[in-house]
Amino acid sequence: MVGTFLKAFIATIWDYSIPCDVPLNNYMLIFIMMQFVMCELTPYIREHCVHGVTSRIVVVAVQNLPVQLLIFYGLYLVNSAKTCQETNPSLYYSVAVFIYLQLIFMLVLVGLIAGGITLLTWAYRNGLLDAFLNKNHGNVEAVKALPKVEFNPDQLTDPEDGQLQECPICMETYSAEKTIVETPCKHLFHEECLTRWCEGSVQCPLCRASIEGQATDPSPV
Ligand SMILES: [Zn+2]
Ligand SMILES: [Zn+2]
Repeated sequence: MVGTFLKAFIATIWDYSIPCDVPLNNYMLIFIMMQFVMCELTPYIREHCVHGVTSRIVVVAVQNLPVQLLIFYGLYLVNSAKTCQETNPSLYYSVAVFIYLQLIFMLVLVGLIAGGITLLTWAYRNGLLDAFLNKNHGNVEAVKALPKVEFNPDQLTDPEDGQLQECPICMETYSAEKTIVETPCKHLFHEECLTRWCEGSVQCPLCRASIEGQATDPSPV
């Protein structure tokens, strides 16, 4: 790719004044300038304008659009040339090879991206990404499946200070009014407090063990 680019570049400079019925020489100059502009622009855009993955993808697409349009314009020029093949063969053929290589490269890239998106969509539809996605999502249903603990002041008294234990989330002492649940890791919480917590997490707030999985295990622990 670099070799064909250099060849086309040298031919552009060397044979610039040799007649060609389509402006391939100026086309190559614009193409080269565009590469420099993009090289200068990319770090600037990355630093000042881009936040988040989605906007990054959009910016990359927008940045590459002018180059892609330029490749298609080059294709048009090469194919509409009538006499350049004879009058300026070294410019014509080096630019033609360069443009066709760029086109192939672009098509392969588009194919890979399309293939990747198709594969991801397929994996998502078939639930293969669920384990990965659930890491960042809560599971309120898992709280409902947890065993309830009956309010019994004797069992819920802290042996160290003789006081009633507190819900670690709201710091309120347990009472008969609010339902208490027990996680698979043997930690107690108000059901409503843990439900709110599990809107954005599937981990025990105290020890980070999963409250799923074992929660659906019917055998008593
Ligand atoms: Zn609570
Ligand atoms: Zn725990």
